[in-house]
Amino acid sequence: MCATCGCGETTGADGAVITLAGHPHPHDHPHHHDHPHPHDHDHDHLETVTLEQKVLHKNDLIAEQNRRRLAGLGVVALNVTSSPGAGKTTLLERTIRDLGPARAVTVIEGDQETVFDAERIRAAGARAVQVNTGAGCHLDADMVRRALDALDPGPGSLLFIENVGNLVCPALFDLGEHSKVVVVSVTEGADKPRKYPHMFAAAGLVLLNKTDLLPYVDFDVDEFAAHTRAVNPDVVMLPVSATRGDGLDAWYAWLAATADPGWSRRSVDNTMSPE
Ligand code: MG
Repeated sequence: MCATCGCGETTGADGAVITLAGHPHPHDHPHHHDHPHPHDHDHDHLETVTLEQKVLHKNDLIAEQNRRRLAGLGVVALNVTSSPGAGKTTLLERTIRDLGPARAVTVIEGDQETVFDAERIRAAGARAVQVNTGAGCHLDADMVRRALDALDPGPGSLLFIENVGNLVCPALFDLGEHSKVVVVSVTEGADKPRKYPHMFAAAGLVLLNKTDLLPYVDFDVDEFAAHTRAVNPDVVMLPVSATRGDGLDAWYAWLAATADPGWSRRSVDNTMSPE
């Protein structure tokens, strides 16, 4: 987890740069460099584990605040994760255009650097905030909290949180979302669910993207489905092509069912713990 990749609290709440799309602000933020480092000593290992637990506990508290805030607004938030290049942003562009003005959508874009993706989202017709995580390899709940302050999603709207392309750390950090959507492309290995089981086990929906490329790649859809079921037996899996449009009606039906107005009350009843 984060002690391995070197990211964590110091690249989260203090280090993230939140930028309104289309208005990049080059910054020269001071960064702390007291990340945990691998050591041979058991004592150091124990301290690292304790730090990770504290980081995750703090994150979980803020995630619950985000969840309560979103539920209060009737906003359904989806945490969209994948490897880099699986097609998250293309899927969101297409979704925003297809849903049209009938469905209010806002987007929090997470990348280490650039505002490229937020600009694409804005061009597709939705408001977006870009979060640049610097050295960090995932969004955390505090970044989302601050992005929500800037984005101010309207009541009843749909919020996509496009996480940093990474199938490891985003599995551990609750952002306060309603559900995680994992996007995989057919140009990747069909065994990915077994290699990154935490991400697939946490998913509420798995989208297999770029199915238009299936004739040209060595990807066994049935094998992928079996690997996915092995780590998450009940998860919904949908094959789609965000560029060609195949399968998107099923994705939109899933979104419509997920954005049921009754969701917020049930979610609060089921998931909230007393403060
Ligand atoms: Mg992207």
